[in-house]
Formats: sequence, C-alpha cells, structure tokens
Amino acid sequence: MSSSNSGRFETRCVHTGVAKDSAYNSATTPIYPSSTFYWDDLKTHRGYDYTRSGNPTRRALEENLASLEGGIDCRATCTGMAAVTASLYLFKHGDHIIAGHDIYGGTYRLLSDVLPDLGIQVSFVNMSDPENVRRAIRKETKGVWIETPSNPLLNLVDIKSITTVAKERNLVSIADNTFMSPCLQRPIEHGVDVVVHSTTKYLNGHSDVVGGAVITSQQAHADRIAYVVNALGLGCSPFDAWLVLRGVKTLGPRMEVHQRNALAIARMLHEHPRVERVYYPGLPDHPHHELAKRQQDGFGAMLSFDVMSDRSYAEKVLTGSKLILLAESLGGVESLWEYPETMSHASISQEARRAAGISDRTIRLSVGIEHVDDLIADLRQALDR
Ligand SMILES: *Cc1c(COP(=O)(O)O)cnc(C)c1O
Repeated sequence: MSSSNSGRFETRCVHTGVAKDSAYNSATTPIYPSSTFYWDDLKTHRGYDYTRSGNPTRRALEENLASLEGGIDCRATCTGMAAVTASLYLFKHGDHIIAGHDIYGGTYRLLSDVLPDLGIQVSFVNMSDPENVRRAIRKETKGVWIETPSNPLLNLVDIKSITTVAKERNLVSIADNTFMSPCLQRPIEHGVDVVVHSTTKYLNGHSDVVGGAVITSQQAHADRIAYVVNALGLGCSPFDAWLVLRGVKTLGPRMEVHQRNALAIARMLHEHPRVERVYYPGLPDHPHHELAKRQQDGFGAMLSFDVMSDRSYAEKVLTGSKLILLAESLGGVESLWEYPETMSHASISQEARRAAGISDRTIRLSVGIEHVDDLIADLRQALDR
C-alpha cells in the first residue's frame, strides 16, 4: 500500500498522503513530534533533518491538500494568517497588488497596514466587475488577491474573469478558498496560481486547531513558498498537522450535511416574518446564484440574514439561542453565529460597514452538522422570543 493519490475527491480525502508507516503499517499517519532527525552518515538522512524545515506528519497533510486543490505542492502553516503572509512573499518591495474590497478582516489589516511598511502597495476594488481590476492595474502591479464568497454578505467573484485579466498582464493570482473548501470550489481549475486556506475552518472542521495552508500550481511558486515557510518559520506543528489530516478525511460527507442544513435554514429564514433579508447563494433570489451554480460544486454553509426592526431585537435573537454558540470563527461541526457589528467586523469603521451593506441587524451564521430540525427549532424560538 502507498499513500495513494488516485481516486475521486472523497477517496483522496481519506487516503492521500496518509499511509506512511512501513515499520508497522499503521493505518493512520503517525505523529512525529521530533524536532530533529539523525543522519545515517555524514551525507545521508531520510528526507527530514529538522522540523522547521520539514516534518513527515506535516508533509502527509501537505500531500493531501495539494491533491485536493489540484496543485503541485502545499505548505502547511501554523495559522491561516501565516499562510496569507507566506503567499505575500511572492511579491517584493515596489510591487503593487489588487485585492477585493470585502476580503477577510485579518487579510485586509495585513494588506492595508503592514504591507505598505514593506514597500508593497495595495488597491482594494469591487471585483464583482473585472473591469475594476483592469482599471486598477499599474506598471508596478504584480498580483491579484481574490476571496469568494465574501464575508459576511456572501457576494461572489467570478474567478475565471479575474484570472483572465491577470494572465493578460502576467499577474500572480492568489485565492483564499477558506469559505468553500476544495470540496466545493477549486480555484486552480479556474486559472488561479496559488490557493490559501485557513485550515482552522472547514478543512479541520472540528474547532480544535488554528492552521493554514498554501497550495501552489507552478514550480517557481512552490519553491519560493517552501523557502519562505522555512526562512520565516511559519510551518505548523506535527500535532496540528495530524489533527487537520484527521479532520480532512471526513470533509466530503461533512460538507454535504453542512450545506444541506444551510439550504433548509436559508429557506426557513427566507419565509420567516421577522427576517427581512437572507444572504445565501443557494437561494434563487441571491444576485450571484447562477455564478455560484457555475463556479462552485455547492452553495456552502455560511449564510447571513438581516432581522426586522432594530438593533436591540438583533441582540435579543443572538443571545436567545440554546444550541447555536455565540462565537466568531466558522466551519466547525457545531453551529456558530455572530454579530458582525461588534464582533467579526468591529475593527472596520461603522461607515465602512454600512458602505459594504452590513447593518446593525445583520447576523452571520456558520451552519453545523447537527440535526437540521433541532437547528431550525432553536432558530425559531430565538426569533420568536
Ligand atoms: C479565518 C480566516 C483567515 C485567517 O485564518 P486564521 O487561521 O484565523 O489565521 C483567513 N481567511 C479567511 C477567509 C478566514 O475565514
């Protein structure tokens, strides 16, 4: 048996990179917590010498994720932001990058506050129209940063239309695929060069790790990312890698239940008299429903909704759940909801929140894999309080 890289998606989730133990034929990848590996002689080691540079358990996860995203290589990092950081080292002083205007807050902070100090400029544009990207291109422009669907209002970007512009101008395209996971969207198939993940979310799926990954589709990028992850010391611990690899095995079936539950909940909320608006790409009235059908293999399990009336009602709903946890983060088996106004989007100005369409009646829900009837009953009682 080998660590097979064949078969359909769900099969590769379970097997790719996994069977590593020829000593005892362990069915799961062993955890190698060793910081260092001894040499057989002065010239020979067995592929690993020091865990910052490489580790067999981490490598198992990397092989798995590279396969799932359709890339040639992957580096697993200690957080999602470490993956974002590593990928930005594809650029250098003097370069300019174009990013979507409604990207993840932590990425926005890094791009807008940290990168300019390193001499890299960033323009934020509404990527729902690829012409906005074309117009923002300067002679120093070297990259585009794509995130779809967006957070918290689930707007989509047509990946193909952006990578078409990027290829015309020789720009490196990077996509944050955290919200969909490779089960539901594989940006490399739409022309993206590099994919980043917060494995904290769906890939691990059990809310017990923070981690990240950078998946590359070209050798030059793969070499640079491997170099940077080692040089900056961004790699994840063997134990965390093992947990994520364990989580990924059930990614396919989890996503199926996640999104089945999400669609049922979106429909219920859509009909509910105290809900004004539901943001879920799986509903036919979502502005990017057709694009979601074309670009994604499903609609995912993140949704947001605006409740009727006022802020105090939104607060009452959010604190009225008996099952759904009031927490940031997403993508775990347990349902979580949060209030962008004071939680996930508190760091951007109120003016910017309103401009983005986020109101003080907007609630974001990460739908878990509990029984859907229990979730719906809980939501109803919270809304009816
Ligand atoms: C959570 C998240 C990140 C950051 O990941 P961490 O693991 O928290 O560092 C980046 N992008 C998206 C879309 C996320 O949801």
